[in-house]
Amino acid sequence: MDISGLETVVANSAYVAARGSVDGNAAATMRDKKMRAKLKLPHITQCGHLKDTVDQTFDSMCVKQPIGKRLFQQYLEGEEAFKTAAELWKKIEDYTTSEEKDRPQKAQKMVNKFYDSASKTFCSFLEEKAVSRVREDHKHSRGDLFKETEQQLLKHLEEKALEAYKGSLFFLRFLQFKWLEGQSVTEEWFMDFRVLGKGGFGEVHACQMKATGKMYANKKLNKKRLKKRISGSIVEKRILAKVHSRFIVTLAYAFQTKLDLCLVMTIMNGGDLRFHVYNVDEKNPGFGEDRACFYTAQIICGLEHLHQHRIIYRDLKPENVLLDDAGHVRISDLGLATELPEGQDKTKGYAGTPGFMAPELLKNEAYDYSVDYFTLGVTLYEMIAAKGPFRSRGEKVENKEVTRRILNDPVSYPETFSSDCKLLCEALMEKDPAKRLGFKDNQCVELKDHPYFKTLNWGRLEAGLMDPPFVPDPKMVYAKDISDVGAFSTIKGVVLDDKDKEFYEDFSSGNIPIPWQEEMVETGVFGELNAWGAKGSTPNDLRY
Ligand code: ADP
Ligand code: MG
Ligand code: MG
Repeated sequence: MDISGLETVVANSAYVAARGSVDGNAAATMRDKKMRAKLKLPHITQCGHLKDTVDQTFDSMCVKQPIGKRLFQQYLEGEEAFKTAAELWKKIEDYTTSEEKDRPQKAQKMVNKFYDSASKTFCSFLEEKAVSRVREDHKHSRGDLFKETEQQLLKHLEEKALEAYKGSLFFLRFLQFKWLEGQSVTEEWFMDFRVLGKGGFGEVHACQMKATGKMYANKKLNKKRLKKRISGSIVEKRILAKVHSRFIVTLAYAFQTKLDLCLVMTIMNGGDLRFHVYNVDEKNPGFGEDRACFYTAQIICGLEHLHQHRIIYRDLKPENVLLDDAGHVRISDLGLATELPEGQDKTKGYAGTPGFMAPELLKNEAYDYSVDYFTLGVTLYEMIAAKGPFRSRGEKVENKEVTRRILNDPVSYPETFSSDCKLLCEALMEKDPAKRLGFKDNQCVELKDHPYFKTLNWGRLEAGLMDPPFVPDPKMVYAKDISDVGAFSTIKGVVLDDKDKEFYEDFSSGNIPIPWQEEMVETGVFGELNAWGAKGSTPNDLRY
């Protein structure tokens, strides 16, 4: 083995070891004790200003934010008047995420306890009609059985409990966590592991948040290399911070170093779909239909979420779809995405990857979300055929010729395509955007109803409950050898000025609230910090 091969082996083993330690209690042992000690709650007197600035709407503070929700629930559990509602809320959450086989028994117990007027813990704040619907339907045990009454339960809590909560110690504790969340982050909080991939402006490394032990991917954008395109990276950051979906990588931190802007995101250890299509089994490239169908469905959920937030992705391709440890996929690389302003339903501009871009975009016409369904068609085709639809395998063609083919030529399908799959590809790669299958009335209903997905349970897929068709090997590194990733040339003659600095400040907003709170909860740090002492007494740090 030569030195560069050795370098990869050493880097891989450090990365695999750190990766394997994150689940369960092992994370605590992997933490950097000194950094963990820096994560501590301030005295409440330091949080005065937050009382007025923190978002106190019920949905954000008590439902969406993981720490906010937990503290609110702890408050409810301690109040006689809300105990039962709190219990039902937790039971509904547990039911929704439990496996189908466990649901009938759980539903029966819940109906007996909360939906039966003869029960001591009957929830009389729910509407009668909704209660009888649950009683009638519970034998079917659908995933959304309790959805309607959950909405009513939350409304009840908003009306009856929110104000009192804001006067409680739990709300003060929430303010302490918001203070901690608002502290600035710097590179000293992260330890870098091996490079996972290379982008246009810098490398992506595996990294670990030292204080909690959680693994992330750190996408570094070199300031000098970025120079003129800084606004693009701000768009990428803003969009990533805004979307929360299990089908799109999540941004947890954004900060700067002397040389780079850094985006710290969900780590996707399974590599990208391009790697799996071509490099995992080189003699036999491409996926079977089941596997392609599963990934396509997950990508559709990601696209639907983006489009519901008025975001056109523009760069869907196998390389930008990444696998996690379990084999679920997420969309990544939102560097070319663009947001349609309210009231505007089309945009213009050349953006994407040759061979994937839709005809209307290539013709420089105004376009909308439908360009993403064209790229979806190209991506699905490539997953199965192990080649692009507008290129023969191994063929070198100029972009101009690829564009000509996209505009004019029909696509031909190898024998391996089932008729349903071929029909779907054709409906997606329809050259006229008005006739193309895609996003209508704020949803992808028609697309999801396509015969290609006839055996797919969308509800389970959307809840993340479907078993992936392929599970990455936890010991394997799905990235190129370090020496094959390729280095950047050094940049000379670029000077960074004050205008640039303003952009950097804007970019470096620090912790992204929901992912940060999730990390604190899931690594156990929230539980360690949220200490209360003897029952009924006020902890010192909450005493004015
Ligand atoms: P660019 O915008 O410059 O194309 P990308 O965001 O696509 O950069 O990242 C470059 C490469 O880094 C990807 O192709 C992938 O191999 C790797 N990568 C990016 N994000 C992640 C992630 N979250 N987890 C693991 N690897 C990643
Ligand atoms: Mg990319
Ligand atoms: Mg990009």
